[in-house]
Amino acid sequence: MTTKTITAGAPVAGDDFLVFGALRASINRIDERLLQLLAERARVAKDIGLAKRIAEKTVHDAEREQHHAEELRRLGETLGLSARTIRELFQVLARLAFERQIEVPNDKTQRVTPPDSDAFRLARWELGRSVTVVNVGEAQFGGGLFEVIGGPCAVESEAQINEAADHARAAGVRILRGGAFKPRTSPYDFQGHGLRALEWLADAAHSRGMSTVTEVLAPAHADDIACRADLLQIGARNMQNVPLLRACARTGRPILLKRGPGATIREWLCAAEYILLAGNPNVILCERGLRTFERETRNTLDLSSVAALRELTHLPVIVDPSHAAGRDELIAPLCRAAHAVGADGLIVEMHPCRENALCDKRQALSPSQLRGITDELQLVRTRY
Ligand code: PEP
Ligand code: MN
Repeated sequence: MTTKTITAGAPVAGDDFLVFGALRASINRIDERLLQLLAERARVAKDIGLAKRIAEKTVHDAEREQHHAEELRRLGETLGLSARTIRELFQVLARLAFERQIEVPNDKTQRVTPPDSDAFRLARWELGRSVTVVNVGEAQFGGGLFEVIGGPCAVESEAQINEAADHARAAGVRILRGGAFKPRTSPYDFQGHGLRALEWLADAAHSRGMSTVTEVLAPAHADDIACRADLLQIGARNMQNVPLLRACARTGRPILLKRGPGATIREWLCAAEYILLAGNPNVILCERGLRTFERETRNTLDLSSVAALRELTHLPVIVDPSHAAGRDELIAPLCRAAHAVGADGLIVEMHPCRENALCDKRQALSPSQLRGITDELQLVRTRY
């Protein structure tokens, strides 16, 4: 026979329901209050979003948010809550507020299914469907934000990427770029530091609350890179590399698919189709310029593709003016143009000390040039 030791004040076996029932009821009441507070917080966030829109202010204020996060961390400490708990909780709250601020449009347009589009039937517009919104950490593409991805062409050292991350964060960037495997024209040029650069990139970004994007060059690398990066880039040279498209798609990570310098828009959409068909719906298209006869710019930025894609596809589209222009002084005007034509964001190269860049030096923005661009353009995108 088993005996139960009963200590004074402790629950008696038969009272389980009474005791735990009462405790559970209190928890449930607290949860309900939390939900009501959350809804109230979201309503206030929406009002803030509206006020910012009217005042044409950026949605994201990195400095204010960092200051607020620090205050919450200190308050959490006094309440016995770990810094990590506070950080994770407020990341979720910030995201909820953000979504309210931007009011994701339910873009069920009257646009018709494009003719002769069976070759990209998953990527094309269908009457009545809504736009695809791709989330990458705190960033969102296709939901009405104008995201600016920034960072160096290549991850050159741990110190360089940390410095770049500080500048990017200060500019309000939520996704840090950096190549670990570089597709260089000459085999004698710097090829990237490979997997160890990915660790540096991930540490630099994640410790500052940012996500990462990096290029995958070979199908065999896709899984290893997907373990460390939040968004996988398929570069312009590889747009039609079918084994690479499939390998990246299968990792389940969102994909940034650059347009090949000689690819038509339909070929580009067919490349996206391979990813969608492999079961990965999270594709962001990236226009980065075409190879033409023109020599004043590195490539010719085809912004008409952004407008044309709005007719053809539900996928979000961003613009890379860095590889198109090839010169830092042309980048800000091209960013403005990308915003005006209705892109969902930008990806730009920025180096903390551009004279020392090992890759694409001429087109690297300085940290203050990047800041100028995000201050001007990281707004809610109101035009569709
Ligand atoms: C890059 O973004 O680092 C890059 C090499 O771009 P693209 O593939 O457009 O040339
Ligand atoms: Mn580059």
